[in-house]
Amino acid sequence: MSSATAVGTEAATVAGAGVEFRGLRRVFGSTVALDGLDLTVEPGELLALLGPSGCGKTTALRVLAGFERPDAGEVLVDGTDITHVPANRRDAGMVFQSYSLFPNLTVRDNVAFGLRVRKVPAAERRAQAAELLDLVGLPEHGERYPHQMSGGQQQRVALARALALRPRVLLLDEPLSALDAKVRLSLREEIRRLQLTLGITTVFVTHDQEEALSMADRVAVLNAGRLEQCASPAELYRRPGTPFVAEFVGTMNRLRGRLTDSGLVEVAGVRLPIEGEVPGTREVEVLVRPENVTVTDDPEGDARVVSTFFFGSVTRVHLEHRGTSVKADLPSRDVGALAPGVRATIGVAQHPTLVVTGTSR
Ligand code: ATP
Repeated sequence: MSSATAVGTEAATVAGAGVEFRGLRRVFGSTVALDGLDLTVEPGELLALLGPSGCGKTTALRVLAGFERPDAGEVLVDGTDITHVPANRRDAGMVFQSYSLFPNLTVRDNVAFGLRVRKVPAAERRAQAAELLDLVGLPEHGERYPHQMSGGQQQRVALARALALRPRVLLLDEPLSALDAKVRLSLREEIRRLQLTLGITTVFVTHDQEEALSMADRVAVLNAGRLEQCASPAELYRRPGTPFVAEFVGTMNRLRGRLTDSGLVEVAGVRLPIEGEVPGTREVEVLVRPENVTVTDDPEGDARVVSTFFFGSVTRVHLEHRGTSVKADLPSRDVGALAPGVRATIGVAQHPTLVVTGTSR
């Protein structure tokens, strides 16, 4: 830990709070944004809210911030019902997608803004703002104005401003989506480092699954205002609880399969055990990750390589197999002769697998 971090930690020392959503419902006209959302955020954890556009992520965050009133349900922080507590009396700091700094205030005054509202004496405000700017790696930038800073720097200032009142919950609404790819990656690491250093409970809204999976302790996948699954990134990926999660998180193939009398599913000449619900039809589609598809070049094979994409250690091979497109991730050293146009045979690694009816696509 750098000395700057140690100093800043003092300024922003917080104890992470536990958060609970109970049966949250929020309706806008005919749109049900939240449809009975139940979710618990553990003290000190970084929880990502992930899901397709319109699934209710931002509404859930705004309800927690107090900017939105639920039509039903409760929000609890450390076991206390805060559903009807106004936003300015909640212990939450928020960072938005657009940096939303005050353009006419210096960086230092932006960071100290909330402290001024709370009538903290000027000398103390200056000292705390300096510590917070140290914490986010901008010790020399206090006298600048927002327009003199890059997007990534402005977002660091927004983070410092959100932390200034020592909130017990930090709420991040797509904080990285306006930034270019490289800045995004470094700020991801920065936010995670800060969050772990401070131990602050953090709820992070994103529709970027890579961002969610790489940063969060747990990821809550929302679908149509409800929780589909909340689990660690590795568990979501390896053991998705529903077909929706399986296909939303990571890349997934749908291969044609057939249920056997012995309760297995036959796909690409391989018989696999079934995970989860078994549909009532014999003809099914089998959900298989690209890294679980095997490809062998074979002049007699019923698959054909369409294209290959080299990603360093891994190469993604796109194939056509009996009218279906299939993606396979192979170690690049094993790709050998698998060039576009080459015929091949595909197989599937022996893992329990989710199956869905062929009509649910
Ligand atoms: P995105 O990833 O696109 O930001 P989201 O998951 O954050 O989506 P929300 O912003 O929570 O989704 O919106 C959920 C649904 O509620 C959407 O259909 C949205 O259009 C609707 N909605 C949200 N806020 C309002 C509002 N103030 N008035 C009317 N409809 C709203």
